[in-house]
Amino acid sequence: MRILLWIGLLSSLSWGWGFWAHRRINRLAVFGLPDTLFAFYRPHIEYLTRLATKPDERRMAFPWEPPRHYIDLDRYPTELPRSWKEATTLLTVDTLNAHGILPWHLEHEFWELVEAFRSQNVPRILKLSGEIGHYLGDAHVPLHTTSNYNGQLTGQQGVHGLWESLIPEQFGEGYDYWVGPARIWRSVRDTIWTIITESHALVPIVLSAEREATRRVGEEQKYTYRIRGRQTVRTYSERFLTVYHALLEGMVESRLRRAIHRLASLWLTAWHIAGRPPLPPYTTFEPEEEPLPDTLRPDPRCGELGCTLPSPYNQEPFIQKCTFPLTLPSCWDFMMRSSSTPLSRPVGVEWFASPYYHLLYAHRDDAEAEGFVQTLLERLSLPLPAFVLDAGCGEGRYARALARRGFLVDAVDAVISHPNLPEGVRFFQQDLRVWEPDRQYHLVGSFFTSLGIGMQRWDEVKGLVQRLARWTRPGGWLVIDYLNIYQRNTTSFEERVIQGIRFEIERWQDNFILYKRITVFDPTPQTFEERIFKLTEGDLYQMVERAGLEVRETWGDYHAAPFSAMESPRLIVIAQKPLS
Ligand SMILES: [Zn+2]
Repeated sequence: MRILLWIGLLSSLSWGWGFWAHRRINRLAVFGLPDTLFAFYRPHIEYLTRLATKPDERRMAFPWEPPRHYIDLDRYPTELPRSWKEATTLLTVDTLNAHGILPWHLEHEFWELVEAFRSQNVPRILKLSGEIGHYLGDAHVPLHTTSNYNGQLTGQQGVHGLWESLIPEQFGEGYDYWVGPARIWRSVRDTIWTIITESHALVPIVLSAEREATRRVGEEQKYTYRIRGRQTVRTYSERFLTVYHALLEGMVESRLRRAIHRLASLWLTAWHIAGRPPLPPYTTFEPEEEPLPDTLRPDPRCGELGCTLPSPYNQEPFIQKCTFPLTLPSCWDFMMRSSSTPLSRPVGVEWFASPYYHLLYAHRDDAEAEGFVQTLLERLSLPLPAFVLDAGCGEGRYARALARRGFLVDAVDAVISHPNLPEGVRFFQQDLRVWEPDRQYHLVGSFFTSLGIGMQRWDEVKGLVQRLARWTRPGGWLVIDYLNIYQRNTTSFEERVIQGIRFEIERWQDNFILYKRITVFDPTPQTFEERIFKLTEGDLYQMVERAGLEVRETWGDYHAAPFSAMESPRLIVIAQKPLS
């Protein structure tokens, strides 16, 4: 089987993820949808899966098709207009077509899908949903964003199929596709460009890992030969694939996972923008290859008098364990239901209470907090005296900076028992998940990543954001100062010696959590673990907006620079509670 696949790949350079991955993305995205949409899409999952490769199949037939699959960012000026209209005033359509139009086409298709939802045109919704999955998948492939798309400019011919077809086909069955429920995008255009930017930033790694794998395996071991009919063809050796895959450090899996999650989110967002129209239930047709409203045939499995097929939604209410492949409709239900379980024990909080934390991070000083508070207050223009809450105050440097400016500050922390706070600041050693304040605040601040620390479950983070929002007065502000998870090294090991004490710091992550293990030798080893939830810009927007607040600004650092996933050290979301 594998040989057959490889032959297919060797005979022609595939475009976008290989067929295997494209189909998997479309299929699994269905399982990230909320109930209403899931009920609509699930019966058509085979059709959606087939559509995943349609755009590639017609590449040769239509001259306008190929540029829709890529964008050679390195061939464009650095400041590329994100709107098609502006792009076409800056550059000719010929130029744009020559270097690829993927992000603009994706956005165009998105609005077509919104229109299809608005008019409740089921065949069109399905066709667009399936095909957009292809383009969105392509946008997640790093080599679709560079003119060196097959390594041909750097003597690495073949790297395209290697990364997007051979690697997923060889290792993809072992990946974790549990991506969580779909989310509504705040800005479709920005999200599309974020995806492209992310992909482009990975190009150097895709190429350098290939070089490094070649160096480790050796030129003579890099390839192997296989018989194909009467021919012998050259392909990458299994050893080379294994080494390359390891050097990519989960990149292919991560891009696949994101593509799946974002496709579900794209569908959901389109439906949401269209006004959440009701969608026909299990319809009486199975769409054919190119369905048009007047050529629809009834589902052959349904009788003349309407469909009597059992609905998949009348099955078991939920299952205990969702495993790949996700075939039951209620996996997400199950995940959502778990939200009524008791609060989890915070994990990794001992570290923040230990004297070593302060020793290791002595550079996180008051000056940084002072500067940020100053910048923030210039933006928020709070009245004096205003009530301010420092939620998760740690040893108190933000609370101090706020109190110094004359605000009435409450500070809460579950871990620290004696923060260094000036007189007048009320301190509560309490778990924010159960504490209740006696007032609402003009400003609620969750500073320095305190939001996700120690949490073990998604719904707890969500619940905490809801609480913080509730404690904010109408017209007041919620500021969530988080780290930019894209800037955190995936895995690393570091050693430091501070005042004669040796620290070993290991970092790693899984799909939801960033881990840090700190071993302190003083002189006997003690181990602490820190866990931080991986929250993206979209996650925070979603949580904040669901809690009834409106996002006003997003900063990427303590000096109010705009947030950029690829560059910013911080992710700071500034939201306001509407007055009524
Ligand atoms: Zn493609």
